[in-house]
Amino acid sequence: MTARDPRPLSHAPDRRVRRTRSPCAPLRSPLAWALAAVLLSPGNLSTAEQPGASAGACRAEVLGPEPYEQRVAATSLHCSRAPDQCGDHREESVAYAWPAEPSTRAPRIALLESVTPFLTPPVEGAEAGLVAGWLYEPGRWHMAIDYGIDGTKSFTVRAAAAGRVIFVGWDGFSGNTLIVSHDIAGQPDAYRTVSMHLRNGATHDCAASWSQSVRQAPQGSPMLAAYKAQLERTGCSENPSGRRPDPRFWGTDEDTLKPGLLGQQVAAGATFGKAGDTGPGGFPTAADPNVHLHVFFARRDRRDGAWVLFDPWGVYGVASCYPRGVSSGKSAQGFPSAWK
Ligand SMILES: [Zn+2]
Repeated sequence: MTARDPRPLSHAPDRRVRRTRSPCAPLRSPLAWALAAVLLSPGNLSTAEQPGASAGACRAEVLGPEPYEQRVAATSLHCSRAPDQCGDHREESVAYAWPAEPSTRAPRIALLESVTPFLTPPVEGAEAGLVAGWLYEPGRWHMAIDYGIDGTKSFTVRAAAAGRVIFVGWDGFSGNTLIVSHDIAGQPDAYRTVSMHLRNGATHDCAASWSQSVRQAPQGSPMLAAYKAQLERTGCSENPSGRRPDPRFWGTDEDTLKPGLLGQQVAAGATFGKAGDTGPGGFPTAADPNVHLHVFFARRDRRDGAWVLFDPWGVYGVASCYPRGVSSGKSAQGFPSAWK
C-alpha cells in the first residue's frame, strides 16, 4: 500500500505549497549523516520488537539530502505565531519544515528527543492502520504518517489530541486540509497536527479541484496535465454540467467535514470527517483511488518559533519499522515516543 501513496514530489511544488531549497550547499558528508542517524535512533524501541524489519532497514533516517518544507496558507487564525496573534501578523503562508537548522542543517535533536506524549491515533480504533511512515522507503522521505485501509475504503478521521481547529480549507496541492493547535504542558500552541486529503462533499471537492488546484498549479507542467486527465477520468469534468464524480474516488455529497469546526476547541478523538484523496498530492494514480489520511506532526521550536516536523513514534523509518499495534490500529497501549 505504500506504493500507492503519493510520491515524495507530491508534497512539493505548486506556487503556495513548495519545497524550498536552501541557498547553502547541501550537507552530504556520509559521516555527518551516519552520525545524525545514530544520535537520533530511538532508544526506546528495539528493532527486535518489529517483526519483519531488519536492524539495517529500520535505521532512523531523520533528514533527507535536501531541505523540505510544506506550506499552508496563512489566515486570521492560522499563522506561524500563536492563533491569537495572527490578526495583525500578515504572512502568505506558514512553513512546516524538516527537523534541521535552516542555516547549518544540523538536526534539532533536543526538540526531537523531548517530545511530550500526548497524541492518540487520528483514526478509528480498528478501522485504519499505518500505511506509510516517515520514509516511503529508504532514501525516500515522506516526513509524515499515512493511515489507510486498502486505498479504496474511506474511514473516520479524528483529532489526535485535544486542541483548537485553526485551519479548515482547500489547499491547492493537498486538498481539504485541517490543522489543530495543541496547548501542551502549559505551552500554548506547542504542537500542531496537519491533516490532508480529507473529503468535503464530492460536488465541492470536484469544483475546488478545477477552480483552485488546476488554476494555481504551474501551467504547462506534466503533473498538471496528469491531474486534469485524472479529474476527467474520474467523472470530474472541467465542464460543470457534465460532472458525475465517481464515488470510488470522490465519495458522495454526504461525506462532508463536520460543520463549524474552524475556531472550535475539540477533544482528543473528536471526529472531523472522512479520509479521501483530494488535491493533486492525494490523487496520484489513474487506475485506483488512493484514499488515505496524511498527517504532519509539527512542534514549535521555542528558540526561533519554527514549526518542525517530527515522527511521533520516534521511528523515522519505513512503515514496516513501526510497532505492529499501530499498523493494525488495534491498540494505543505501549506506544513509544509521543504516543500515549
Ligand atoms: Zn502522506
